[in-house]
Amino acid sequence: MELNDKRVLVVGLGKSGVASALFLKEHGARVTVSDTKSGDELRNEIPVLLDHGITVETGGHGERTFKGQDLIVVSPGIPVDAPPLQQARSLGEPVIGEIELAAQFLPGPTIAITGSNGKTTTTTLASEIMIAGGLPTLVGGNIGTPAISLASRATPETVIVLEVSSFQLETIQTFHPKIAVVLNVTPDHLDRHRTLEVYVNAKARIFENQRGDDFAILNADDPICVEMAGRTKASVFWFSRQKEVKQGAWVRDGSIVFRQGEQQQEIMLASQIPLKGSHNLENVLAAICAGALMKCPPEKVSEAVQNFKAVEHRLEFVAAIRGVDFYNDSKATNVDATIKAIESFPANIHLILGGKDKGSDYSVLNNPLKQRVKRVYTIGAAAGKIESQIKNVEVVHAETLDNALRKASAVAQPGDIVLLAPACASFDQFKNYEERGRAFKEIVKALA
Ligand code: ADP
Repeated sequence: MELNDKRVLVVGLGKSGVASALFLKEHGARVTVSDTKSGDELRNEIPVLLDHGITVETGGHGERTFKGQDLIVVSPGIPVDAPPLQQARSLGEPVIGEIELAAQFLPGPTIAITGSNGKTTTTTLASEIMIAGGLPTLVGGNIGTPAISLASRATPETVIVLEVSSFQLETIQTFHPKIAVVLNVTPDHLDRHRTLEVYVNAKARIFENQRGDDFAILNADDPICVEMAGRTKASVFWFSRQKEVKQGAWVRDGSIVFRQGEQQQEIMLASQIPLKGSHNLENVLAAICAGALMKCPPEKVSEAVQNFKAVEHRLEFVAAIRGVDFYNDSKATNVDATIKAIESFPANIHLILGGKDKGSDYSVLNNPLKQRVKRVYTIGAAAGKIESQIKNVEVVHAETLDNALRKASAVAQPGDIVLLAPACASFDQFKNYEERGRAFKEIVKALA
């Protein structure tokens, strides 16, 4: 892609927007950035952009901003059907996302990981497996470092491990992962994608440019993943914690086995995985598949898995106080992640639920609640909706995280678990799930 002297508009000044603007400018483009946030809200981002000679528009998009651009790079936070973008497309201006921009400048093989849950955990683990296997590796995407920021450091030998969200996949064109992983597809973000079908279609775009010599890694235990297998030209490898698979990774008599064609390798014992929960077994199986396909030696793969620590805010053990264990799963922002968190403990859970609703159906929690949860503590804006949909469990309306934790720790008995796995976004009471998770940990420390 030739950028020199091209007029490029970057819409949305999140991390990836800022990184894109700087990259584009460095490659000779005439860059404008535009965001609906005010200049005051963007005071941390603006100086570096101005210093690089980038034109900055804040507090909305001017009528002329979208006109006469050679390229528009949109942030994943902006709906693809936003009116100014529709207008730009109708003027024949290409509209792409930052992942697509990066795809044009990343020369090496890419491993792209998507799914409703488990992306960050699996992306982190897969990159650690590649590194243990001796491959030059860079990791990024939705996980922190924008993909475009990796471009300056990547050589044709560098393996790029990318976490990609459904929103990022909606704006690709040529993005072509050597290995595409779909961990699972359960309802999430329906407030923005509107229907499950639209969401599944967005996720399936990960396969769009794959060819016969590429690989797709899919969850054999997830019905939507099974249905998706027909949508890729790549060679499909499966992972399953429940059954044997034709090609891929599964558990046989407690051992994780990887099979490719006639060849089978025993990688490690499932009991050597240091993470809690059967969902993490799935993440590990998927990452092992990727490692094996990249020809990492089995003993190095095993070593990387055994050394892996839970990523912060993902079923993270915080403290044991008077025999009660406290776990922070603030990243459980949808009901499926909450179910997985509940299922990671046999019983006696005090569960904190609530926050900002994303259009979820909380009644699917009723079964696991009945089996394993002693009490639910509701917080935040979604409390009322949750209380009206869950049953068969004692519910305490706690309003705030602080109050919920105080009430839970006052009644919890030795052997009980206090778990934050709220099934909701955090934006009603917190800046993001990280801030909510940190608040949880601070309150727990104070209780100790
Ligand atoms: P993502 O990046 O897709 O949000 P994370 O690894 O950050 O995934 O985990 C998000 C939440 O989902 C956490 O609460 C975590 O405990 C839970 N989780 C992790 N892996 C899975 C999985 N395979 N299936 C369901 N839930 C999972």
